[in-house]
Amino acid sequence: MQTMHAMVLDRPRAPLIMRERPLPAPGLGEILVAVTACGVCRTDLHVVDGELPHSTLPIVPGHEIVGRVAAVAAGVSGFSIGDRVGVPWLGGTCGSCPYCRSDRENLCDTPIFTGYTRDGGFANHVIADARFSFPLGEEGKDAEIAPWLCAGLIGWRSYRMAGGGETLGLYGFGAAAHILAQVAKWQGRRVFAFTRKGDHPAQGFARSLGAVWAGDSDELPPEPLDAAIIFAPVGALVPAALKAVKRGGRVVCGGIHMSDIPSFPYALLWEERQLVSVANLTRADARAFLEIAPKAGVKCEITRYPLARANEALSDLRDGRLQGAAVLIP
Ligand SMILES: [Zn+2]
Ligand SMILES: [Zn+2]
Repeated sequence: MQTMHAMVLDRPRAPLIMRERPLPAPGLGEILVAVTACGVCRTDLHVVDGELPHSTLPIVPGHEIVGRVAAVAAGVSGFSIGDRVGVPWLGGTCGSCPYCRSDRENLCDTPIFTGYTRDGGFANHVIADARFSFPLGEEGKDAEIAPWLCAGLIGWRSYRMAGGGETLGLYGFGAAAHILAQVAKWQGRRVFAFTRKGDHPAQGFARSLGAVWAGDSDELPPEPLDAAIIFAPVGALVPAALKAVKRGGRVVCGGIHMSDIPSFPYALLWEERQLVSVANLTRADARAFLEIAPKAGVKCEITRYPLARANEALSDLRDGRLQGAAVLIP
């Protein structure tokens, strides 16, 4: 019997455990992917830390998957064995609910999420629905592209939601922000980066990627902003960002989980400021970002970890010890 190995979460707040399992065969419409790199996203941390409801357990986390197609089942079109493929967070949708029928499949009534409701990429093999997987071509290194699959795709949706203004604030300068700062600069916009108080290395990192200003998240930027995106899971950043945007400005919450938002005076929201959140991604977001990222010359700063050290990668992300993105290599 052929086997695979995976880092498995049995229960929240427990370390992932390396397990050997039978190699699954892809079902109708599915592909088997031999994983070559899988990024570690903050959402993986929320899953492991038990901060999200309705988690399937046990589960293999990981939804920034790059690999090669190892087997193709009936009903798959567009993929052959050996193709390089990306598997993102959105693992499947119903295709028939009101959201799916109105180009908002990211809000589907019965979605499947990779690494949350179906096993993900903290493994050397993963099964994926071919319709929700993306050909990646041969440009770029697998590990450096892996963070595109969530930090890039959902970051891109947040970025689009922020509108086309010239000045953009990014709160939390991690994997998503470091990708979007490069896209924004390429588009001629000015980025203002906000980090944990006194995190001078992150602020220097942001400036090195083209941010025109970088400072602490409780500071006001030198000029009011057109929009801001909050990637850090910190509710107190909501009033801070509303304070930093100009009249009619927009604040986008880009994460899946956030600590409670403290109360704040209505005056911060008044004058047509908008506060919105982003959930998941659509396949259209994925196609758009995967086309634009190479044109914008997006380069990911990554730290590689062997798959067996996934717990260490999660701790480093939790404690803010990473610059850019962590990527697991099976
Ligand atoms: Zn649906
Ligand atoms: Zn993610």
